[in-house]
Amino acid sequence: MNLTVIGCWGAYPEKNEATSGYLVECEGSHILLDCGSGVLSRLQNHCALEQLDAVVLTHMHADHMADVYSLEFAILILMQIGRRSKPLYLYVNEKELDSLAFEYPDYVRVHPVRAGEELTIGHVRLQFSETVHEIPCLAVKLTSREGRTLVYSGDTGYCQAMIDLARSADVLMIESSFYDFQAGRMKGHLTAGEAGKIAALAGVGQTILTHFPHYGDLNQLVLEASRHYAGQIRLAYGGMQIHI
Ligand SMILES: [Zn+2]
Ligand SMILES: [Zn+2]
Repeated sequence: MNLTVIGCWGAYPEKNEATSGYLVECEGSHILLDCGSGVLSRLQNHCALEQLDAVVLTHMHADHMADVYSLEFAILILMQIGRRSKPLYLYVNEKELDSLAFEYPDYVRVHPVRAGEELTIGHVRLQFSETVHEIPCLAVKLTSREGRTLVYSGDTGYCQAMIDLARSADVLMIESSFYDFQAGRMKGHLTAGEAGKIAALAGVGQTILTHFPHYGDLNQLVLEASRHYAGQIRLAYGGMQIHI
């Protein structure tokens, strides 16, 4: 299983970059986790849109889904000109179905998912767990046939469900929206220290911090997480690739 970070910013993309978007390739399947602003353009550096099988949206904030409507038109055009033969499968929280408005259901097939559910895309097994956020949000765990695991937090506050989903994961990609001095500023997001605590309690193999603030020294996030978690911690960046 290979992970490529398409975008790693919270809220809005920095210049020439993107908000949340993570491409997972596994045995020929191409799955995009979140599709925030800037993702559709940058995704094409790593995956032809003809090859994209599915998109999983953790929740309906724009920094996680703003580009899905442009993606709908890309799929429509590619199918109409014969360059793509199958629709795109989009997996979204059943609680958020009403906030989506696709005009062309023949091209984007929406599948509701819920916490506790398991499903398979290609040879990848996906499991979902509800996080603590301002609106319903699902964290996702992906497991390859070899049993290798990636857990992506989406947006979340500190919660036991996140620790349980991440338990013994090979890679935990976790939001780190705030520095420790900002603890308590906003419910539904993590400080770097909280992200480190979750990584430690879950006993994950390695941790990738993502969903960054637009200020301060991001290396400070690694320092703050490392006060709690002794494993490898890295900062996500656009184009980062990891073999899991
Ligand atoms: Zn976000
Ligand atoms: Zn959010």
